[in-house]
Amino acid sequence: MPTTEDLVSRNAVFSAADFSADFAHNAWGTVTVIGCVDSRVDPAQVLGLELGEASIIRDVGGRVTPSTLRTMAMLARVERVGIDTVVPGPRTLIVLHHTDCSMIPLAAFPDLLTELFEIPTGQLDTKSLRDPFGSVRVDVDLLRAHQHEANTLVSGLVYDVHTGRVEVAVAPMLLDRE
Ligand SMILES: [Zn+2]
Repeated sequence: MPTTEDLVSRNAVFSAADFSADFAHNAWGTVTVIGCVDSRVDPAQVLGLELGEASIIRDVGGRVTPSTLRTMAMLARVERVGIDTVVPGPRTLIVLHHTDCSMIPLAAFPDLLTELFEIPTGQLDTKSLRDPFGSVRVDVDLLRAHQHEANTLVSGLVYDVHTGRVEVAVAPMLLDRE
């Protein structure tokens, strides 16, 4: 396992070879991915995203929670006040869930999950905790209900940790509201 010193050394290699100071200040990016914290499913790596290309929001399961929605609202505000670079649309918004997720054993701890989703225990069944294809659909629907940024294509992907491939569970659909 790499130590902090190892990682600082890797950074020296990165800064010499791959770094560019020319990236626009663009916290929001043209692409936003909501993904799981699992170290096997880093969205940047499995989707081939480059630096400066995407904002990535990660939590346990890659779930869309009230906290996720608050983070997205903050990023949108940064752009609106002119600090950030305005990116011409359409934006790409992706929910990326995966097989063999830790969310599956965590389903045995409803107290933690009601806190995460900020819902009563009786509503946990609506979150499709054991099926990534179902959970992607649930979370895309939640984004469609709450995401008010116009000109955004929202989609849902499921990554298979045994094959390295993603499957489109929800095809891109346009959110086009003001
Ligand atoms: Zn996971």
